[in-house]
Amino acid sequence: MDMDPVARLKSGFEDFKVNVYNKKPELFEPLKEGQAPTYMVFGCADSRCCPSVTLGLQPGEAFTMRNIASMVGPYDKNKYTGTGSAIEYAVCALKVSVIVVIGHSRCGGIKALLSMEEGARQLVSHCHFVEDWVRIGLPAKRKVQTECKALPFDAQCSVLEKEAVNVSLDNLKTYPFVKEGVENGSLKLVGAHYDFVNGKFETWDAPTPPPSKAVDAVARLKTGFQNFKIDVYDKKPELFEPLKEGQAPTFMVFACADSRCCPSVTLRLQPGEAFTIRNIASMVGPYDKTKYTGIGSAIEYAVCALKVSCIVVIGHSRCGGIRALLSMQDGAPNNFHFVEDWVKICYAAKKKVQIECKALPFDDQCSVLEREAVNVSLDNLMTYPFVKEGVASGKLKLVGGHYDFVNGKFETWTR
Ligand SMILES: [Zn+2]
Ligand SMILES: [Zn+2]
Repeated sequence: MDMDPVARLKSGFEDFKVNVYNKKPELFEPLKEGQAPTYMVFGCADSRCCPSVTLGLQPGEAFTMRNIASMVGPYDKNKYTGTGSAIEYAVCALKVSVIVVIGHSRCGGIKALLSMEEGARQLVSHCHFVEDWVRIGLPAKRKVQTECKALPFDAQCSVLEKEAVNVSLDNLKTYPFVKEGVENGSLKLVGAHYDFVNGKFETWDAPTPPPSKAVDAVARLKTGFQNFKIDVYDKKPELFEPLKEGQAPTFMVFACADSRCCPSVTLRLQPGEAFTIRNIASMVGPYDKTKYTGIGSAIEYAVCALKVSCIVVIGHSRCGGIRALLSMQDGAPNNFHFVEDWVKICYAAKKKVQIECKALPFDDQCSVLEREAVNVSLDNLMTYPFVKEGVASGKLKLVGGHYDFVNGKFETWTR
């Protein structure tokens, strides 16, 4: 890319603002008041796999988590707070009706899982996190190694891409609120696979009781993919052919899982441009191999393997996670199992806002906190040795961003 990375983000947003946001008030006006997404989507952080692009998901439709290999860990309040907080918020607060877990072709996380030596301490000596994270898919790996041992490595990877999705679907049912929703028919779990080599998308039901009203929601995903295939994928071989061989994104982006905030949409990021993590309130926890393996594995992979040159952390207006952080009573019992524990990452920002802005009303304090929380995440990024090194050597730039969907503004800053 020739353009300066930050200028690229700004021009992407301007394009979105002029051609989409300003032209569809009927879509964006109601979304200013709140989100009521049908889907919760788990997608891989891979820059070629944004579900807003490949499935045509529109702002407001899908609360979206993105991590390495779209994995869902089992219910565990110490190890998987990032995943748990998002599932809890999506199911209990937003009341989504479908959870989709999407695997994909040529996934680096799946390759790491299949090639890692059992019992060996680390795949590559400098990998601190990736192996520990993809371990979530170990049951699938065992299955593939037993049932497909005659297949070559790449073919085993293809099978594992789907079997790992099945492990995530099983893990989803270890969350009491998910299990309850599935049993009473208000929630459906769907597995999916995006094959960017052959331009295919398939879905399957989790082996659970028969679905209720969610059949249309699955059909909607298929139609979305067909539109993408015909209108984009088939028309731009010059973009998609090289991406079949690998990704070399400029950006690593942290964005909120909020259905109104997909950076592929709001910044017009194209397939291959941005390795993208989405979680509650786009928070980056500090270097911690027990508590933040999801985040750590993604930063490590983006910086050490993909060699991104710019990490952008984007906050947004009216963020539910930021509201939860500001309204939570210190010392009071948690209403939720996970959300409060997760948003505590930015507790230092909350203290700062409560002291410096105590005269402001709650909503205004939230607006300040949206940006201050980004600053805490930028500081936390520097606790990762590979990030610190990259910044010191000038190869890596850290950028804060804020998307204001109420006023149609996007701002960036550096620390
Ligand atoms: Zn992947
Ligand atoms: Zn948010």
